[in-house]
Amino acid sequence: MPELPEVETTLRGIEPHILGKIISSVIVRQPSLRWPVPVSLIKKKLQNKKIDNVSRRGKYLILTISNESLIIHLGMSGSLRISQKEDLKKHDHIDICFQDGTILRYCDPRRFGCFLWSEDPDSHFLLKDLGPEPLGNSFSGEYLFNSSRKRKTPVKNFIMNSKIVVGVGNIYASEALYASGIKPSSPAGRIPKRKYEKLAIEIVNILRQSIRDGGTTLRDFVGGNNQPGYFKQNLKVYGREGKECHKCMSVIKSQRIGQRASAFCPTCQTRF
Ligand SMILES: [Zn+2]
Repeated sequence: MPELPEVETTLRGIEPHILGKIISSVIVRQPSLRWPVPVSLIKKKLQNKKIDNVSRRGKYLILTISNESLIIHLGMSGSLRISQKEDLKKHDHIDICFQDGTILRYCDPRRFGCFLWSEDPDSHFLLKDLGPEPLGNSFSGEYLFNSSRKRKTPVKNFIMNSKIVVGVGNIYASEALYASGIKPSSPAGRIPKRKYEKLAIEIVNILRQSIRDGGTTLRDFVGGNNQPGYFKQNLKVYGREGKECHKCMSVIKSQRIGQRASAFCPTCQTRF
């Protein structure tokens, strides 16, 4: 699933190819995404207009056009790439075609993504309740500590809640909890401030590292044959159940928290 680093990498990959360019047409081959694509509205709003800005909020990409916004989510399996007419593949559902021949092409085999229009994205139902950006100034250990008081929910679910902080998916939550020595099932409200300070630093570190790793795949956004922008990571605990911890040689265990398998080291990670 595309996570925050992949979405950020997508943004950096497509931006130089579309920013400031004029849209000539929009082709929608499949409008049934997670929410129906408002085809005629999007065509009307985009045709002959310029892309004024490309930004990201959580895992949503936002293309600003005449002070209004196209909100794009990649869902479970979506991708955006810069393409040519003849390079059409199965599941390429939407093309935004530019006057200079550039095509921004949306592919989504499982169709869980979205392409929606908003006059004011900050008040859009998908965006209005989102918590702070983990790489922004309002995210900190103190913020996590203050937001978690009296909460009994497992800390892993707490940091994966997009109302608390956006973009911390299962992989990043697992890795950041390992790096900060906190057992994923610990009640969020019982974790001390110094531990949240460490956790916030580790969340930022792992997201930044993933974005850096993703930077090496930027060329894949242009005419590549592969799905662009998704990259292998150097994972220390996620997906390593049954293997030895790199720090202490204990066997990495797994526990179901909510609906998700959560890997942790029983020695390095403390329950609070
Ligand atoms: Zn260990």
